[in-house]
Amino acid sequence: MSASERLRVMFGAAPQKPERITPAAQQVHQLKRMTKADFAALKQHAHDHQLVNHKWRNRRWAVLILVNLLFTFSFWLDIQMLEGSLTASRFVGFHLIDLNSALQVMLAHRHVIVNLFIGTATVFVLWVALGGRSFCSWVCPYHLVAEWFEWLHLKLVAKKLVSDHEFHRGARSIFWLAFALLALLSGYTVFETISPTGILSRALIYGPSLALGWVLLLLVFEVLYSRRAWCRYVCPIGLTYGMVGAISPLRVEYRLEHCFHEGDCRKVCLVPHVLDVVIKGRAAELKTPIGPDCTRCGLCVDVCPSGALVFDVKGLNRLL
Ligand code: SF4
Ligand code: SF4
Repeated sequence: MSASERLRVMFGAAPQKPERITPAAQQVHQLKRMTKADFAALKQHAHDHQLVNHKWRNRRWAVLILVNLLFTFSFWLDIQMLEGSLTASRFVGFHLIDLNSALQVMLAHRHVIVNLFIGTATVFVLWVALGGRSFCSWVCPYHLVAEWFEWLHLKLVAKKLVSDHEFHRGARSIFWLAFALLALLSGYTVFETISPTGILSRALIYGPSLALGWVLLLLVFEVLYSRRAWCRYVCPIGLTYGMVGAISPLRVEYRLEHCFHEGDCRKVCLVPHVLDVVIKGRAAELKTPIGPDCTRCGLCVDVCPSGALVFDVKGLNRLL
């Protein structure tokens, strides 16, 4: 899949079957041709030998909790090493401003604020290096809480007490534009007041507020009606960092030769459209980088029974 096609998919288009498959990948697809019974046996074999592994999930949770607690303790203990919240902060004197917030503020003020621009540039470079949407799964406090409530949603779905309702993924691109327009026309950063990321971050640092009721409403909606709806269909922060992730060298890579196509990775993924490539016959090359909407959460890496999904840094193999 080309880079532009990956971006199209992130903005809401459905992933397409590849038009051209390299001879090497074709050969692997050919070797994997089998009957349904053979495939079921392979799948069973993969599951029987799967090691339950939460390595990346545990590392991620630890980093996310640590980052958020750093803000909290810095404020409580008045260390002044890290000041502010996730939206805008200062780390040992460096201004750090969340990319989406900076965009909203500049649109609301209708001009480029130089200090804001410098802080944004620092954050931009940082997240290009760290993977773009890795902000979501490794830093955003709402991601962690929503991940815990998702467990409850999946239990209720399994017991057939609720069902999952999907929306068109393109809705997120429309929300992104709508929030940008709202800021431009109203002169007010509307999104910041309803963003669960900002609400939770501020609540952790400065104490709870009534706005937490809104976060709870979102979580109830996600448990009872639509799995991870905010992150999947609404949050403009995810889309902004997705655009940054498009040029990041840090990504998850899919390796066709190792894949059993049993699809466990797609079941755990917040953005399963990026894993369309793991469907049998879809991979056009032996190695495929996963698209920019991937949050680099590592859940697919943990769950893959055969190591077909791995973290990779583009160009590093050539350097080593
Ligand atoms: S999509 Fe938004 S709310 Fe969800 S994890 Fe990313 S920043 Fe947080
Ligand atoms: S592709 Fe893997 S690492 Fe990326 S979001 Fe999905 S589960 Fe997480």
